[in-house]
Amino acid sequence: MIAAKCKCGGSIGLERCFIEGFLAECMRCNKCGETLFTPEQVKQLAKLREANSEIEGKRKIVKVGSSIAALLPKKVEGYGVREGVVDSIRVLSSKSLEIRFNKDIV
Ligand SMILES: [Zn+2]
Repeated sequence: MIAAKCKCGGSIGLERCFIEGFLAECMRCNKCGETLFTPEQVKQLAKLREANSEIEGKRKIVKVGSSIAALLPKKVEGYGVREGVVDSIRVLSSKSLEIRFNKDIV
């Protein structure tokens, strides 16, 4: 990994950061907030950008029995998203939900 000390004297640790609208792993100083990326984290961010460019778009919410469902584009199957792989759903922001899978999809 990376040196654990920041030039300000704080400790740099692994965190999840919002960068370019993506929630990605980064290294952040707990004192000054300086955010750094390892080469692997830069590659991961590029993968997120690429996956998003394939998948992003308007989707419909439909009624299915007593539940509702978001129709996902067929392309997400290429990322291993299939029936039954959802782990949990939570509020992410005032306009979004996070659908969290039980494995990495990107
Ligand atoms: Zn610092």
